[in-house]
Amino acid sequence: MPVAENALRLILIGPPGSGKGTQALQLCGRYNIGHVSTGDILRRNTQKGTSLGKHAEEFLQAGDLVPDPLIFDMLEDLYNRAGGEQQGFVLDGFPRSESQARALSDFLEGRSQSIHKVLLLQLDDDVIVGRLIHRRTCPKCGRSYHLQASPPQQAGVCDSDGSTLVWRPDDHEEVIRNRLDTYHQQTQPVAAYYAQKGVLSSIDASSPISTITERITRLVDPLVSSV
Ligand code: AMP
Repeated sequence: MPVAENALRLILIGPPGSGKGTQALQLCGRYNIGHVSTGDILRRNTQKGTSLGKHAEEFLQAGDLVPDPLIFDMLEDLYNRAGGEQQGFVLDGFPRSESQARALSDFLEGRSQSIHKVLLLQLDDDVIVGRLIHRRTCPKCGRSYHLQASPPQQAGVCDSDGSTLVWRPDDHEEVIRNRLDTYHQQTQPVAAYYAQKGVLSSIDASSPISTITERITRLVDPLVSSV
């Protein structure tokens, strides 16, 4: 059944560095839906030194998943931040394990809602390592740059809001390798979970950003009603 575009509920899954954040920004602009990134929320909490941030910090630094109870406690807040009562949303970095996917399904079922499409961005591990080592991120708006392929206009400064770009501590090689192991072991089963529900589509994420965006919109546009 077609849905109004601003009611679309989407999930982006993919290994670190596959471009989830970049594509999420495109999706929320195109369809006028909310966007939440659990990674961004957790990082902000560690920077602010909140209780959540203090509990999550060691897991972020090691590239391990933050334990489920902490994530489950965030679920309602995530949904509200995305504006889930009033509009659709794109989730970026959540769910990250099958148990999280089941918790999200239960949560949405309680609101007579479900996920319309899950987009799986696929990319080889070696390409990912090359991308992440050279990635610099804006701590304010989340935009990311590649030092060689897509550098900012002024070195070290975000083109969008002038913030100083950071090299995330978990974008160093040893941690990247652990994040990839975590992805293969814990997050890949999430794709199988949604494939079984018939809402999964896979996308080759090795192409230029605009090509990936086109592929995604070709999959999502047909879900939208023209009314
Ligand atoms: P990301 O910015 O999505 O790459 O996430 C950075 C880090 O935040 C991950 O390596 C995990 O430590 C943590 N994290 C983000 N989202 C989740 C989640 N849904 N469940 C558990 N840990 C998460």
